[in-house]
Amino acid sequence: MKYFEYVTCILLILLSIVLMSSKVQNLENENQKPEHQENENILFSFGVIADCQYKGEGDTNARKYSQSSTKLKEAVEHFNSKDLSFTMHLGDFIDTDWDNFDVVGPIYNELKSTHYHLLGNHDFSVPNEKKSEVYKKLNMPSEYYDFTVKDWRFIVLNGNDISFYAYPEGSEKYNFAATYYEQNELTSPKYNGGIGETQKEWLKGVLEEASKLNEKVLIFNHFPIYPAGSHNLWNDTEIIQIIESYPCVKAYMNGHNHAGNYGIINKRHYLTFKSMVDTEQNSYAIVEVYQNRLEVKGYGREKDRLLPLFE
Ligand SMILES: [Zn+2]
Repeated sequence: MKYFEYVTCILLILLSIVLMSSKVQNLENENQKPEHQENENILFSFGVIADCQYKGEGDTNARKYSQSSTKLKEAVEHFNSKDLSFTMHLGDFIDTDWDNFDVVGPIYNELKSTHYHLLGNHDFSVPNEKKSEVYKKLNMPSEYYDFTVKDWRFIVLNGNDISFYAYPEGSEKYNFAATYYEQNELTSPKYNGGIGETQKEWLKGVLEEASKLNEKVLIFNHFPIYPAGSHNLWNDTEIIQIIESYPCVKAYMNGHNHAGNYGIINKRHYLTFKSMVDTEQNSYAIVEVYQNRLEVKGYGREKDRLLPLFE
């Protein structure tokens, strides 16, 4: 009997050691497991390019304008090897000259995914009579628009709405920009622009609709609005205020500041993508959309980022 008790005791001790070590093992695994692996199902992904800014000559130390056609081709080939829902070019497709749209346009149009453009300041470096035609040249449905993918709404803004360069000098809209600039005592460079009343009302309308439909929202624009900086949209704070009235807005993505940037305020991500045109090294990204996060896969100079989605 004593012998039996002894053996039972030893067995129990051994069993508890095994159980304890497996518990420790589990804890270690849990610690190693990044939080974002809770939901591994990727919902969809999209390609992003900022500031291709092509022209055939005039390369500088910083900007390799003429190499952008090759870099664009490289990005398009890479994107075509992936299953992307869409690709977005964040403005400044060309540096100058209308004809340059016909150099890089056909390369971009090789994309197998649906591919979109938005308007950058440099896209208006074309003759006066062509300025109102730019969005059509880029196959955009209008100067600002929206579209949906699954339960996500993508809003595409036109940050050149109020500006000195999108309209011929002396035209009504040019003069409006001059008055706006003066009355608001702006010091922001004149190569930036602003968003007008009509577009702001449209934005609020789309955000109302998206809220009712329980959609998540991502806003694209050429100009940053956060963090503060010399490249920002003239009325950056007005747009931030609108965004903050709608919990459905999760992120804002843009180009224009070639160095790239990132900031987060009140649970929303503000991400500036680095330009394709700078340096000899390429720069572009693929954004993977998950239930609880966005994962930015950066290529070339662009960084990888994990952006959690907040309620
Ligand atoms: Zn720009």
